[in-house]
Amino acid sequence: MRDLNDLTRPTVPSSAIQERMAAETEERRGVVGPPAALPDDAGAPAGLRTALAEAVAELAPQIVELSHDIHDHPETGFEEHHAVATVAALLRRHGIEPEVGVYGMDTALRAEISATPAQIDGAGEPAGTIAILAEYDALPGIGHGCGHNVMCANSVGAFLALSALAHTRPGALPGRVVLQTTPAEENSTAKEILSVRGMLDGVDAAIQTHSYAHDVTHQTWLGVRRLDVVFHGVPAHAASQPFMGRNALDAATLALTGIGLLRQQMLPMDRLHAIITDGGQVPNIIPERTELSIMVRSKYLETLKEIAERVEEVVHGAALMTGTGVEILTSEYCNEVPVRDNGPLLTSWVRSQRERGRDPLAAGVLPETIAAGTDFGNVSQRVPGIHPLIKVTDRPDVALHTRAMTEAAGAATGDAAALDGAYGLAAVALDWLHDAGLRRAVRADFEATGGVIDVAGFWEE
Ligand SMILES: [Zn+2]
Ligand SMILES: [Zn+2]
Repeated sequence: MRDLNDLTRPTVPSSAIQERMAAETEERRGVVGPPAALPDDAGAPAGLRTALAEAVAELAPQIVELSHDIHDHPETGFEEHHAVATVAALLRRHGIEPEVGVYGMDTALRAEISATPAQIDGAGEPAGTIAILAEYDALPGIGHGCGHNVMCANSVGAFLALSALAHTRPGALPGRVVLQTTPAEENSTAKEILSVRGMLDGVDAAIQTHSYAHDVTHQTWLGVRRLDVVFHGVPAHAASQPFMGRNALDAATLALTGIGLLRQQMLPMDRLHAIITDGGQVPNIIPERTELSIMVRSKYLETLKEIAERVEEVVHGAALMTGTGVEILTSEYCNEVPVRDNGPLLTSWVRSQRERGRDPLAAGVLPETIAAGTDFGNVSQRVPGIHPLIKVTDRPDVALHTRAMTEAAGAATGDAAALDGAYGLAAVALDWLHDAGLRRAVRADFEATGGVIDVAGFWEE
C-alpha cells in the first residue's frame, strides 16, 4: 500500500504483467512451434554458404570494430556524419567506392556490387537486385539504446562478406547487391523520403535486421499516423469577462478525454498517445491557442486509417463543443506503415540463424502488445522484405530505448549479434540470388499479401 504521508514520489510499476507475459511466451513457444526454415538443398549451394561463413570470420574484427565505433559515437537522425564517414572509409579499404549524400540526404550512402556479365552468362539469367539497408542513428541522451550500431554492423558486414566472395569465387553473385544506409529512423520517416526519391527503383527485395532481447522472425510493427492539432480560441480576461472567450485549452482537454475513451474500442496491440505541446500562457487569460501532438498506431493499414479518422472526429468534436477553431497538421510524407515480412525470405533467415546456433522464435510467440514502429514498414509494402529481430542481450526483460539496451549493444552479446546478423543477411541475399524458385516464391508471397501498396499516396485515398 502507498504511504499517504509521502506522495512526493511516483509509485514503482509492478513487474507482474511482464512476468505473466514471459510465462505466456514460453507456453506459446511450445504451442506455435519453431518457424519454418529453408531446406538444405534450396537457396545457395552449401559450399558457398561455408565460404560465406569463412568470409564473415575473416572480417569479424572489422565488423565488431564498426559496431563499437558507431556505439561510441552516437549521433541522432540526420546528424550521422561520423557514422557515414566510418562506413565509407571501411568500404574504400575494401576497394568499394560508395556514393555519399545520395537522394538529397547528407548522411545517406549507397554502394553496390554486381557480377560481371561473363559471370552472369555462366550462371544463366541475372537474378536481379537485392538491397541491404543499414541504420546508424542513435537516441538523444541514451545513445544506442535501439542497437542500431549492431544493425549497421550486420548490414555493412554482410555487404563486405558478399564482396569478398565475389572476388574469390567466380559466379558467387549472379546479380546485384546494393548497400543503402538510411538515416534518421528514430526522428523521421527517412526511408519513406528515400523511397519516394528513388531508393527502391530497380530493387527486387530489401532486407535489414533489428536489435532486440530475443531472436524473432517476425514481430508486429505498427503503422503510425502523426497529427499535430492546433485549437484557436478567443482570449479574454478569465475573471472579469470569461463569457467573451472561447477556451482553446478546454478544446485540448476534451480532445484528450475523447482520445482516452476511444482507446477502449481499439485492438489491444494498437496505441494512441498524445501530449500538450502548447497549453496556454497564464491561468488568468482564457487560452487563445493550444496544440496537441498525437500519435496513432495500428497493426494493419486499414485499421490505421480508420483509427486516425476517428481521432480526427474526436478533435473536430472538441472544437464544436468549445466554439473554437481547429487545424489538423500532418507531415508531407507518409508516416511509418506496418511491416509486412516476406515468408519465404524469413525461411532463409531462419536457416542462417540456426547455422549460427541461434533459434529464432516464430511469429506469434512473443506478445504483440509490445510492438513498436519502424520506417522499414514503408519499404516492405513496396518490395518484398524482412526485418527480423536479433538478440543482443541475454536478459529477456531488457526493452529497446533503455540504457540497459545501450549497454548490451556495445557488449560481447552485441558483438556476437553483429557477426551472426552479418552472416544471416548475406546468406539471405545469397539464397535469393542463387535460387530462382525461391525468388518466385518470394514474389508470390508478396503478391498474395497485398502486392505493391501506394504508400506515398496512402493518406490521400
Ligand atoms: Zn528505436
Ligand atoms: Zn530501432
